Amino acid sequence: MPVVTRFAPAPTGYLHLGHVLNALHVWDAARGDPGGRVLLRIEDHDRQRSRKTYEDAILDDLSWLGFTADEPLVRQSERYAIYEDALDSLRKLGRVYACSCSRSDFEGQRYPGICRDKQLREGPGLGLRIRLDDAVVRFVDRRLGPQTQQPLLQGGDLLARDREGNWTYQFAVTVDDWKQEVNLVVRGEDLLDSTGRQILLARMLGRSAPPEFLHHALLMKSPTQKLSKSDGDSGIRDLRARGWTPEQVISSLAHLRCER
Ligand code: GLU
Repeated sequence: MPVVTRFAPAPTGYLHLGHVLNALHVWDAARGDPGGRVLLRIEDHDRQRSRKTYEDAILDDLSWLGFTADEPLVRQSERYAIYEDALDSLRKLGRVYACSCSRSDFEGQRYPGICRDKQLREGPGLGLRIRLDDAVVRFVDRRLGPQTQQPLLQGGDLLARDREGNWTYQFAVTVDDWKQEVNLVVRGEDLLDSTGRQILLARMLGRSAPPEFLHHALLMKSPTQKLSKSDGDSGIRDLRARGWTPEQVISSLAHLRCER
């Protein structure tokens, strides 16, 4: 099967060098395989933080850099019916429950299951969670090798929809990778911990084989600091305004702290 991979920016800020490094890995993975394809997915699941102006700027910067997708782009905000169907299939299995908790109701990353057995009625102002089995998930990352994760222990039951009605990253991305038949996910290693959850969820949804994963090193601002959207010095807009060429942007990554 030829590689189907994706570039999936969230339009909550401008494109920066970290995205470009990710794009290089994504396009390399597809172009290194005859018949390989790259999909472009705008991850605007967070309606409060996503902005059309960011989306337009990201698309403009990508095309300026020469990254071209092989299919028309999709937006998560246009796929709610698909997420609803996927959730409904889990609801029928008794896997979905309403949850009134906010982040301040529990400590750390793991949701301790406060609403698991409360039988709250679904409705506005409540989130929706998916009851996970206490499974051990094993996968082999293409760069980091064999991994073992225990999603329930790490994060607790998975939030599919938050209290504002937004589909969550974890849920939307898993449904999209499945429905778009993505078979290789190439992303930064800051998302490694999410992978077991996404594999487990994909399995619950009925996906027969999960995608493969390649988690690449992140572009670091310093040995301990990740680049962030607020780092103006790495924004592609700013580099363009200062007269950089696309070639200079791409070749600058070779000299920065990164591992291709
Ligand atoms: N939308 C995510 C981001 O912008 C990428 C998600 C993924 O690659 O799974 O960081």
